[in-house]
Amino acid sequence: MYDVAIIGAGVVGGMLARTLAAYDLKICILEKESDVGMGATRANSGIAHAGYDAEEGSLKAKLNVQGSRMMEQITKELGVPYRRNGSLVIGFGDEDRESIEKLYARGLKNGVEELRVIDGEEARRLEPGLADGVTCALYAPTAAIVCPYELAVAAVGNAMDNGAELLLDFEAGHIEKKEGYYEICAAACSQGGCGSPAEAEREDSLQGKEPSGASAFPQMPQPRKVCARYVVNAAGIYADEVAKLAGDGSIQIHPRRGEYLLLDRECGDVVSHTIFRTPSKKGKGILITPTVDGNILVGPTSVDGEDKEDKATTQQGLAEITARARENVKDIPLRKVITSFTGLRAAGNTGDFIINSPSQGFVNVAGIESPGLTAAPAIGEYVKDMLAGQGLELRRKPDYQPCRRPVYAFRNASVEEKNEMIRRDRAYGRVVCRCETVTEGEIVAAIRQNPPARDLDGIKRRTRAQMGRCQGGFCMPYLAEILSREMGISYEEITKSGRGSEINVCKTKE
Ligand SMILES: Cc1cc2nc3c(=O)[nH]c(=O)nc-3n(C[C@H](O)[C@H](O)[C@H](O)COP(=O)(O)OP(=O)(O)OC[C@H]3O[C@@H](n4cnc5c(N)ncnc54)[C@H](O)[C@@H]3O)c2cc1C
Repeated sequence: MYDVAIIGAGVVGGMLARTLAAYDLKICILEKESDVGMGATRANSGIAHAGYDAEEGSLKAKLNVQGSRMMEQITKELGVPYRRNGSLVIGFGDEDRESIEKLYARGLKNGVEELRVIDGEEARRLEPGLADGVTCALYAPTAAIVCPYELAVAAVGNAMDNGAELLLDFEAGHIEKKEGYYEICAAACSQGGCGSPAEAEREDSLQGKEPSGASAFPQMPQPRKVCARYVVNAAGIYADEVAKLAGDGSIQIHPRRGEYLLLDRECGDVVSHTIFRTPSKKGKGILITPTVDGNILVGPTSVDGEDKEDKATTQQGLAEITARARENVKDIPLRKVITSFTGLRAAGNTGDFIINSPSQGFVNVAGIESPGLTAAPAIGEYVKDMLAGQGLELRRKPDYQPCRRPVYAFRNASVEEKNEMIRRDRAYGRVVCRCETVTEGEIVAAIRQNPPARDLDGIKRRTRAQMGRCQGGFCMPYLAEILSREMGISYEEITKSGRGSEINVCKTKE
């Protein structure tokens, strides 16, 4: 029996797990995908917003500002890239000036520090590439950039290092309230029926016996049913469906698509601040921002959809990004695009974050659209307090370890540090991904660390191997070889991103 089961290993579930792992609790995180951070957390702008955007008095506003204040310390403890680069909301003319003044006033009410309205000249001094027509800007020095998926990986990893358990490929498909606890069954199990012979066999693994072998990482057990006294629904875009499983039909979530273009690191100095356009009736507009890894990100579009799995990019979306970005910043080298992608915002039916408890011991954390990445650390604290209010006992662990050793980035090390790393482990002397200078030592560390990289995309998100100009064209076979060796699985079992994405069908030659 777990004290707390968290459904969803995005940045919100991960941050909550990390927060709770500081206490003497038995915690599990249930994730339907083959890795953590695979929902909205994987595809967003990566901005730790200052907090002037959300309506004053809303949960979004409160948790955004708190999260923004917490982010620097947390990223330091978790070894996640973070940079306080500041943001500019730029305006062209009187109407935009009025909107900027409103944002400024809202920011002050929300408690955002150091906020200033500046004129076009000062804005161009800060950011020389801005369009000539910029007449004013809202300058927020406390805005920052962070790597969202690394934050989720590190938060879950730190929670695991402190005793939390992660169950991957576990899609909560059935929830039943029992006397003083909840029983959660995985979707495959709820279709086949809990208690079936196949299920009983899987259940054995929960008791510490050998797993059935269905896992892509044989040493990870795969129970299909868990029981917990408290359940937190942090299932992102599917949080409405998970709430329904627990008998709560009050939440509706639809996907709002956001497409992006990512530019090569060669263009990394195009802007140093995050540049937003003044919001209009058409939405917040296209932003241009550096990423913590030195690329430039342009986007996102904002289009309401219905399909919660539709992450395709469209010609129309990418054309819109290109046109709008050029209005804001001069000379964006849009021919240096290395990839495009789409993220799905979990747009809820209230306009605010939906954090509530429809029944004793069950908490919804739903509708966590932007600024959910920024707010995640504060959401963790908020939900922890809610659970305590419902009777969860919180006794601080004496041996809690808040820090996590990051996968060491060889490319950022000095020559002396590199030599020392190679002296300690020769695998750091073998560069596998040439575009991003990622060594075998880093890849092996990512496979061995909590939560382990189990497939090619997992390695990518933890080390940046395959994220450069060639997008894995060169290094993918070497990564597959290392995965096969480290995980003790055959080449045919290596996947790009979990079951069903095997990259090798069969041997063509002996
Ligand atoms: C285009 C875009 C831009 C954004 N930009 C920013 C930004 O710059 N700054 C900012 O602060 N925020 C931003 N956000 C918002 C931010 O990305 C989200 O608020 C945040 O990632 C939400 O995290 P989450 O953990 O709630 O959801 P997710 O990351 O979606 O995680 C939910 C997890 O639950 C799992 N799951 C779902 N159903 C089940 C089930 N039945 N059983 C088990 N697991 C399940 C999913 O697989 C997923 O891993 C942006 C979002 C988008 C889409």
